Amino acid sequence: MKVKTRTYQNLINGEWVSPQSGELKESVNPSDNRDIVGYVPVSTKSDVDDAVQAAKQAFQTWRKLPGTARGEYLRKAADILEQRVDDIAETLTREMGKTLIEAKAETLRGVDILRYYVSEGIRSIGEVIPSGDSEALLFTSRVPVGVVGLITPWNFPVAIPVHKIAPALVYGNTVVIKSAFETTITAIKVMECFKDAGLPDGVLNLVSGRGSTIGNALCDHPDIKAISFTGSNDVGKLIALKAVQRGAKFQLEMGGKNPVIVTEHADLDLAAEMTVNGSMKSAGQKCTATSRAIIVKEVYEPFREKIIQKIKNITVGNALQTGSYMGPVSSLTQFNSVQEAIKKGVKEGARLVLGGNTVKNPKLAYGYYIEPTLFDEVESSMSIAQEEIFGPVLALIKVENLEEALQVANDVKYGLSASIFTNHLDEVFQYMNEVEAGMIRVNGETTGLEIHAPFGGIKDSSTQARELGRAAMEFFTSIKTITIKS
Ligand code: NAD
Repeated sequence: MKVKTRTYQNLINGEWVSPQSGELKESVNPSDNRDIVGYVPVSTKSDVDDAVQAAKQAFQTWRKLPGTARGEYLRKAADILEQRVDDIAETLTREMGKTLIEAKAETLRGVDILRYYVSEGIRSIGEVIPSGDSEALLFTSRVPVGVVGLITPWNFPVAIPVHKIAPALVYGNTVVIKSAFETTITAIKVMECFKDAGLPDGVLNLVSGRGSTIGNALCDHPDIKAISFTGSNDVGKLIALKAVQRGAKFQLEMGGKNPVIVTEHADLDLAAEMTVNGSMKSAGQKCTATSRAIIVKEVYEPFREKIIQKIKNITVGNALQTGSYMGPVSSLTQFNSVQEAIKKGVKEGARLVLGGNTVKNPKLAYGYYIEPTLFDEVESSMSIAQEEIFGPVLALIKVENLEEALQVANDVKYGLSASIFTNHLDEVFQYMNEVEAGMIRVNGETTGLEIHAPFGGIKDSSTQARELGRAAMEFFTSIKTITIKS
């Protein structure tokens, strides 16, 4: 029996509603584009207006609830998300193309994040400060910002929405989210967890649609008091301009060009393993993915050999099938953009060592598969060493010593994550002090994070407001400094 493909709706004021345009778009599986995952709303500005109005109204009650009570809703949502992990992970894989193992891990990360923020509801969010006036009580109190707009990318369609929604809600804000259009169904399934947890109407709203319409409408709306965005630099800059113009708070998490440095004191097996995982898992589509390996000349050849062997062993396949190490890239647009970047690398004179093509397996003919790709003889000035590719492409760069490695590592506009492989303490300190990145690793992948620690980059990768952990409180609250005299 053929199963009817489901149609999804926006979540506005606690109800599932169709877009006012009546228009729908299909969501396609990048592993096999004959598989339609479902149909999602193509919303317009008027849907955004309705969602913001609902969130504005709900804010009046939500902000007055104690943090503990707000946290309880997150606890229920976490339990439901955990119960639905298999279904949501499968949807994520079908919409975005990361493997089921990675999709499941991401969904469970969402569960952990929610549970972390339950506890934020019972922590102190102000401080008593000694006053110069002995008759006065001086203290700070943190209050919610109001209705916040969240704009999220397709590469972590569960974890990123959750890591913005959870702190926004627990600190007393109400939310309108515009998740990435490509992965709307995954986001809607996450919203279902909150709705089924009994979250009051209007506290969390989702409007599905194009960035240029829905994202813009959110950024322009006078009742949106803060915008938290994760995505590309080009869009981030537009959002920053709009937010500054109308005095809204904003937080931007954007791209990276993340390096690993490998010195002669490295465990080369470990370094090769972590470099390949960091660059090829999720087909390289993580903001923290490793895209440059900067290697001192003494160990360049043996390290390069190990990388080649590991990349040759990668199994590319349908992301739903166990045994696939790497699935497709997420869409035709992404496929074309990665192919373009590879061609540019060849044209600039980098040596293509492995990959660079679409995958030849006829069983994969309907997906957006790109071979794991390795370049060497890469110069730091080349575009493949400068621009974010967001695909399974790794560039090897040979350097004289650690000083040059650090210069090359820092020779990009980005500063998201970085890693060094060495067992020499002096090198660790030198790297730690000199490398320009927000997330710094020693002997580990450039990817990954700990949900209770601040996350974010420097330079063009992020604005300074950090996400995750307690750091999220800075963005999702405002401070009142209060003096009371009897
Ligand atoms: P994108 O910038 O194209 O889209 C991100 C979101 O912005 C989507 O929801 C999109 O619909 C929306 N959008 C598009 N145009 C808009 C506009 N004019 N106004 C408002 N919103 C608009 O990014 P993407 O392709 O979805 O994601 C990939 C990018 O995200 C990469 O650059 C990656 O590095 C970055 N990213 C960064 C982090 C981080 O934490 N630093 C994490 C994940 C992804």
